Amino acid sequence: MQSLRGFLELVSRERPQDILNITETVNPEFETQAIIDTLEQSGSHPIIRFSKLTGYDMEAVANIHASRDLVAFALGTSKEELSEEWLRRTEQRFEPVLKETGPVQELVFEGEVVDLRHLPIFTHCGEDAGPYITSGVMVGKDPDKGVYNASFHRCQVKGPSKLGVSLHSRRHLWDYQRRAEQRNQPLPVAIVIGVHPAITLAAASLGGMEVDEYEIAGALLGAPLELVKCRTVDLKVPAQAEIVIEGEIIPNFREPEGPFSEFTGYLSRRSTDHVISVKAITMRKNAIYQDIPGGLSSEHALLGGIPREVSVLKSIKEQHPSVKNVCYPVSGTSRLHCYVSIEKTYEGQGKNVILSAMAADNLLKFVVVVDEDIDVFNETRVLWAVATRMQAGEDLFIVPKAAAAMLDPSTQGGLSDKLGIDATKCLKGWEAVIPTIPTEAMQKAKQILSRLI
Ligand code: MN
Repeated sequence: MQSLRGFLELVSRERPQDILNITETVNPEFETQAIIDTLEQSGSHPIIRFSKLTGYDMEAVANIHASRDLVAFALGTSKEELSEEWLRRTEQRFEPVLKETGPVQELVFEGEVVDLRHLPIFTHCGEDAGPYITSGVMVGKDPDKGVYNASFHRCQVKGPSKLGVSLHSRRHLWDYQRRAEQRNQPLPVAIVIGVHPAITLAAASLGGMEVDEYEIAGALLGAPLELVKCRTVDLKVPAQAEIVIEGEIIPNFREPEGPFSEFTGYLSRRSTDHVISVKAITMRKNAIYQDIPGGLSSEHALLGGIPREVSVLKSIKEQHPSVKNVCYPVSGTSRLHCYVSIEKTYEGQGKNVILSAMAADNLLKFVVVVDEDIDVFNETRVLWAVATRMQAGEDLFIVPKAAAAMLDPSTQGGLSDKLGIDATKCLKGWEAVIPTIPTEAMQKAKQILSRLI
């Protein structure tokens, strides 16, 4: 079970309350995002299926990764155990297996008949440059070493077979393209749309240059990822995907791309302005188009944040085994703010944990450390700890002008002040008691409520 539709069936069966079916006809230009955003503002993050889209004969889905509970469910665990489960699973890698054929190539469009406008690609916000593919996992191969990379890059539809793309994180795919371009060679890419969450999460993960994200996907799935060969480029793609767009990044050619509503909650005009020439589109029969909402949506935030939590937890735990959990809250765009819980054993430990977290992730600008009795995924409790366990004169510190997230509009020339707050209780002389409700009463309450809800 490594397909998006397989995952949707599982959720429909076991957590039907987490799927919302919109059966009225809506336009993928603005109206789909308006529905997602309206729910988001009311604190609701279900998977949303759009069965009828104006002008298209294809279903779409969004918000697959919009709640921590569902992401954890996809990996067979709870949100509290998600980072640990991720680390446990990625200890065992699985090499992908090549299949002769796969459902993603049930329908093949090549050459003259390629037309991106047949896909219900969402236009998210009024200021965006146009429709954007946001869920596309872009796959490429190191032109020298052949190592595969899978990562996220927004793609603007510019014509029937032309996409604008920003490789703005300037990580692995950007480096592949840079080296291909030095030889005036195009870089073959495949944009994979509609996959199991394990594949999406692997593409969002923060491995080194030599790490093959297909192996990470296999590790998260607990089974080798099934691949098929592309039709027009020398790449392999997940066999069970819904849609694949095959093409090449044109060397030594740039054209304005953007603006786009970024995860920061602001419009971004930054772009590397690359252009993809599309060679083929392959898909399943009755393919489901997948969108990740633009702007500061829960899904856009969490897909960046969850892999960061995993790598920061791993990194700071090496120095501080007393660290319990790490949360990158959506309120901090799941990139800039971080809450850490520890089992405190000595004074000053909180501040050292803050320094370790800041050292582990350049983007962090605000780190709060709390005691282990605080659930870091419950922001109200974290801020309650700040309110009742922190004294600003001694528990707060600022590191002025360190390297930061370029997309944060408050940074100046890529520099940002970093704020740390130690909201743990002092070990000596702490007398405040948290009142509790007797266990039997709590159990009875749970029984009564479980019958009602
Ligand atoms: Mn990589």
